[in-house]
Amino acid sequence: MRLDNSRESRNVEDRRGRRRMSVGGRGKIGIGTIVLALVAIYFGVDPNVVLQTVGGPETESTTAGEPAVPTAETRFVSKVLADTEDVWGAVFQQKGWGSYQQPKLVLFNGATATACGTGQSAMGPFYCPGDSKVYLDLSFFQQMAQELQSPGDFAQAYVIAHEVAHHVQHMLGVTDQVAPVRQRSTTAAANQLSVRVELQADCFAGVWANHSDTQRNTLEAGDIQEALDAASAIGDDRLQQKSQGHVVPDSFTHGTSAQRMRWFTRGFKSGDTAQCDTFSAASL
Ligand SMILES: [Zn+2]
Repeated sequence: MRLDNSRESRNVEDRRGRRRMSVGGRGKIGIGTIVLALVAIYFGVDPNVVLQTVGGPETESTTAGEPAVPTAETRFVSKVLADTEDVWGAVFQQKGWGSYQQPKLVLFNGATATACGTGQSAMGPFYCPGDSKVYLDLSFFQQMAQELQSPGDFAQAYVIAHEVAHHVQHMLGVTDQVAPVRQRSTTAAANQLSVRVELQADCFAGVWANHSDTQRNTLEAGDIQEALDAASAIGDDRLQQKSQGHVVPDSFTHGTSAQRMRWFTRGFKSGDTAQCDTFSAASL
């Protein structure tokens, strides 16, 4: 991805420089955390559900430590976030959706407090509608490259764009409409709805890639393939196959590899959010 001359976002909140003091010595990163991370990713756990489960009473306090120094990696995240701000700002204006409120992106290590409860890196990157923040532990990018064989800067940009897309859904009211329906649905139906939410976020990520390239010529050869490989690597069927050796379609919450690739492509080719209506699509 070509971002050399791009601006950096002011909305990155870097909490990595802080030391966490936790009761009972929780919060250490170890093999267990990494295994948990994979389990959470494999099963496409809805972060809200996990957050509510593990949240409980707040037992952590955060103390200020050394301020985090920007690195090539944090600059990249910041530039991608800025690019999403420019794209969605313009799309909201074009569509007459009012002004786009930029989300914050929180970088953290291990665990951090969120409006949705305690966020853990074990859940993978996630968006909390309660505080309009994207939460990202950069170690996820290493996991993608090593364990999911999905390296590359644009694979990472796609992940950020997907989380920002959840913020766009929140702003458009999709999140609030879906939540109560999910709650009164059977598990299978609730998972089906979750798949539609996730595929729409993939489609929105594609819309972002289209506008970013059209406006700023940011894409390089192979970038879209990196995003498609990432979308494929984190499809429910692929992850379940890898973790349990078989696939249980009713338990899918994010969509299959083919579906994720299809909806990202649909958004990318059209550049139009109107093509991302996964809720009325007869087939996904
Ligand atoms: Zn998602």
